[in-house]
Amino acid sequence: MSAEASLIDGKSVAAALLAEVRAGAEACSSAGVAPCLAVVLVGEDPASQVYVRNKERRAAECGIATRDHRLSATSSTAALLELVRALNEDPAVDGILVQLPLPAGIDAEAVLLAIDPRKDVDGFHPENLGRLMVGRPRFVPCTPQGCMRLLAAAGAELRGRRALVIGRSTIVGKPMAHLLLQADATVTIAHSRTQHLAREVSMAEVVIAAVGRPEMIRGEWIAPGATVIDVGINRSANGGLVGDVEFAGARARARAITPVPGGVGPMTIACLLRNCVDAATWRAGLAPAP
Ligand code: NDP
Repeated sequence: MSAEASLIDGKSVAAALLAEVRAGAEACSSAGVAPCLAVVLVGEDPASQVYVRNKERRAAECGIATRDHRLSATSSTAALLELVRALNEDPAVDGILVQLPLPAGIDAEAVLLAIDPRKDVDGFHPENLGRLMVGRPRFVPCTPQGCMRLLAAAGAELRGRRALVIGRSTIVGKPMAHLLLQADATVTIAHSRTQHLAREVSMAEVVIAAVGRPEMIRGEWIAPGATVIDVGINRSANGGLVGDVEFAGARARARAITPVPGGVGPMTIACLLRNCVDAATWRAGLAPAP
């Protein structure tokens, strides 16, 4: 084993996926279907504004049109539900993205449930999560999908391997665990009530950290030769971005590791656009819808 893990370069893996997305969008357009993503942003949250701007810019680069719907932070749940219903019924819209988090006064669960599962390109609707669980996925949530693509790019063996997912959120940890299970890994899910996290980490051949706590996974916990995917995006004390994994220490022991930034982050948007082009491909009749 080399002294230092190789870096899993999310930017280049995402660039290759975006090239596929662009080709898929062109095929749809040639078949008379212009791929279209509706983006709903409620309120003025600065981070959400940045995310939405990035998604729209990348979509344009791939030949996916976006429709921008901005609502004030004081909008009612009913107003948002009305907009979602209209987008559900609009045949020109392939995907609906409601940027999270929604302002406190809005019933986020009701809004996500209202999205037509066939346009739910984030893959958060219970129908899509259920499909993933039974092994018949339609839209796979973007961040875990991106992690799987990074594992493939890193040549990580999953079949029969011990994989640890740290975090059990509905949008990252749980779907991640199912994807690893479908790839025949032996999967453990750790969370805030897990005892002996260091021991769990030290036994894992693949570690996916999705907690949201800066550098809480210590480098010395990582098993020699493990593959490490760090989903966390946290502000460090000096204002920079750090992951959930103590990078330098982990890199000294792992076989391959994602950097933060430049690892999982670029994959999430690319997978969102991939889901959107899949929906357009089904609308164009170029592939059967699942
Ligand atoms: P959530 O806050 O929804 O979930 C965090 C999970 O971590 C929970 O399941 C929680 O357990 C668990 N947890 C908390 N403390 C501990 C602990 N001490 N030991 C073990 N587990 C713990 O976060 P998300 O899943 O939405 O996101 C996780 C991270 O990933 C965040 O940093 C977020 O910014 C980042 N992220 C990055 C994306 C990207 O594109 N790169 C996209 C999405 C998220 P419990 O359930 O018991 O509370």
